Amino acid sequence: MSTFQAPKGTYDLLPPNSSTYLAVREAIAAPLRNSGYGYVETPGFENVELFARGVGESTDIVTKEMYAFETKGGDRLALRPEGTASVLRAALEGNLHKAGNLPVKLWYSGSYYRYERPQKGRYRHFSQVGAEAIGAEDPALDAELIILANDAYRSLGLRNFRILLNSLGDQECRPVYRAALQDFLRGLDLDEDTLRRAEINPLRVLDDKRDAVQRQLVGAPLLRDYLCDACKAYHEEVRELLNAEGVEYEDDPKLVRGLDYYTRTTFEFVHDGLGSQSAVGGGGRYDGLSEMIGGPALPSVGWALGVDRTVLALEAEGVTLDIPAATSVFAVPLGEEARRVLFRVVTELRRGGVATDFSYGGKGLKGAMKNANRSGARLTIVAGERDLAEGLVQLKDMESGDQVAVPVTEVVEAVRARLA
Ligand code: AMP
Repeated sequence: MSTFQAPKGTYDLLPPNSSTYLAVREAIAAPLRNSGYGYVETPGFENVELFARGVGESTDIVTKEMYAFETKGGDRLALRPEGTASVLRAALEGNLHKAGNLPVKLWYSGSYYRYERPQKGRYRHFSQVGAEAIGAEDPALDAELIILANDAYRSLGLRNFRILLNSLGDQECRPVYRAALQDFLRGLDLDEDTLRRAEINPLRVLDDKRDAVQRQLVGAPLLRDYLCDACKAYHEEVRELLNAEGVEYEDDPKLVRGLDYYTRTTFEFVHDGLGSQSAVGGGGRYDGLSEMIGGPALPSVGWALGVDRTVLALEAEGVTLDIPAATSVFAVPLGEEARRVLFRVVTELRRGGVATDFSYGGKGLKGAMKNANRSGARLTIVAGERDLAEGLVQLKDMESGDQVAVPVTEVVEAVRARLA
């Protein structure tokens, strides 16, 4: 071990487990690519104001968890704590919303940073795959995104997750509810911090994880009872579309989520095998965010699924993904001449699309065969001096153990025939 270790709250993805992370990202992205979402990549850091205004001044993410810093040039930047604000910023800056085909549908995959108290499932560097549909108000779009996340999790073999669904109302009905909730909260026996939160962002108090607080919240007014007719109808339509597709969800009138920009539809995917960090993904509608960051009115909806927690969910359910061995053929040269000959064979196989690896470092037969075994290759080509003198190599089937001598000039063909 070196004197250095990965920073607190981070971990490395190393083979062989790293292949699971790649497969999870791919499984989440596949339904998006198949549904009109284009790939977007934004910088790992942004102007700190984008997140302060976008995610919300009073959120934990902005007040406590952001990696904010000043550059040598005096710019105030922050490592991105989430994806939506950046993606919307990029879409606006690139004028994608003016190209005439709304919604702009985008998907992304990357690293995010939050200075949190690390624990299982909660890291300071984590990875998300996300999707945003920008510039359309249509319940079918909300339903589409929920269905795509649901399908992604199912395609991975996950079963023990639940979808929590709520509506947070809009500019018209939420303020009325907010005032009613504030009235209710002011009458409770809450600590100073929580009372302050009740003044700045009362909805967040509903999300408090402490039992003592939750007990007092019994009987709190629920947004559900304050939704305006338009929000009610919109939410009903989302629910009906999900019902029609057989997607099961639970109405959760207390679901608020930790970001300020949500309006109307909000949802969370929770997994029951993960303990306290049970949210594997979440999202919702953010009809006001574009204007909050200086853009035109662009009602939008999106989600982000956490890759780290999805991998933990797979472990919790005992699901192992069927990941094909990275290497199909392993080449073992015994001696100098063999090394030159087999190296050419290996290059030819690779160029022809066959995943091939080579025994480096002048290993003997025993050590090289150990590597061949570990690689998971189906076939091994062994070239010894005596065989080569007759223009032959040995082709070994690693499963059956069968071995045949093949002319070196025909080995590429022979490999292809066996792998086909
Ligand atoms: P959020 O942006 O907070 O709604 O998070 C969306 C998803 O990202 C969550 O459901 C988690 O799966 C994942 N996530 C958020 N924060 C962390 C973290 N600190 N460590 C690991 N995963 C996280």
